[in-house]
Amino acid sequence: MQTLLITGGAGFIGSNFVHYIMANTNCQIINLDKLTYAGNLNNLKSILQHPRHIFIKGSIQDRMLVKQLLDQYQPDGVVHLAAESHVDRSIDGPGEFIQTNIVGTFELLECVRDYWSRQDATQKAAFRFLHISTDEVYGSLGPTGYFTEETKYAPNSPYSASKAASDHLVRAYFHTYGLPVLITNCSNNYGPYQFPEKLIPLMILTALKDEPLPIYGDGSNIRDWLFVRDHCSAILKVLTQGQPGEVYNVGGNNEKTNLQVVQGICDLLDKLKLRLKGGSYRELITFVKDRPGHDRRYAIDSSKLKAEFAWVPEESFETGLFKTVKWYLDNLDWCQSIKSGSCRG
Ligand code: NAD
Repeated sequence: MQTLLITGGAGFIGSNFVHYIMANTNCQIINLDKLTYAGNLNNLKSILQHPRHIFIKGSIQDRMLVKQLLDQYQPDGVVHLAAESHVDRSIDGPGEFIQTNIVGTFELLECVRDYWSRQDATQKAAFRFLHISTDEVYGSLGPTGYFTEETKYAPNSPYSASKAASDHLVRAYFHTYGLPVLITNCSNNYGPYQFPEKLIPLMILTALKDEPLPIYGDGSNIRDWLFVRDHCSAILKVLTQGQPGEVYNVGGNNEKTNLQVVQGICDLLDKLKLRLKGGSYRELITFVKDRPGHDRRYAIDSSKLKAEFAWVPEESFETGLFKTVKWYLDNLDWCQSIKSGSCRG
């Protein structure tokens, strides 16, 4: 592929993906991001002036703008990451999630369908629309079993319901219009540039302030963690080798309870940044009232992705968590700019 339109490329996974594409391909990137509270130009600092990376501040819901970008830059693929992504925020106020994740995806699909329909046969066949989604659309697992691509959808939060709706729309554009779409459903990501409202960066930064580390319920909810760069390598494989109309699950085979994750962070901080008051950061762990509709366990079966594209995650949870804690310690100015909101552009 020569030119990619990436939506949400100033967010956590989006910015990691933009860096990954810049480092591993010669693609030109058109990066369309609205710069909501979660989007951050500091994530892209080193490539903002790069000739292969064109940043556009704007919304996927702005049809005029998206049409103009498609016509001007003639991308041969779209990777759609723009979304509202935080479950707790979707519980407090689902409206924005409906607008961005469902209506926004619909508006984007309509623009892309129009653009794609005007391409010649060769361009049409080569074009791809890759929709990035989540394993949360599958609902919650009991103590055993895994989500496969055949698991039926059972979303439990407004966030996962909005993502499920957008997945269905994307699928429908393949079956109805023949648009060459792909969908990936990935487990929990972690790594550099994650907004500090999500579990891992939140716990790192709260521990550094020596404040209580709040864990929902008894801390036994299980998530399957994937280092963000491994997600990026999977996205590129699916984009370049995936079969249109297909769904691919992406996961790290790293099931951990929330308590294990937070204890792991505390243990790393104990080694990398001694607590001023002495003692272990584990002493800060506290348990708080559970989140409503809190899914018990997620676990992804990525055997399809592994078998078809020989995809292998490079990081174990231990190596990935070490890199993540180290990155936050080395980038406290980034965290400060996020909190002050001084970097949204
Ligand atoms: P994020 O919240 O960090 O970033 C989302 C980005 O989208 C932000 O930069 C924001 O400014 C942008 N955005 C929001 N509304 C927009 C709009 N209308 N137009 C253009 N840009 C807009 O999210 P993330 O964690 O990077 O997640 C990216 C995608 O991956 C989402 O679709 C999410 O559902 C999915 N996903 C995330 C995870 C995870 O663990 N974070 C796991 C699986 C799937």
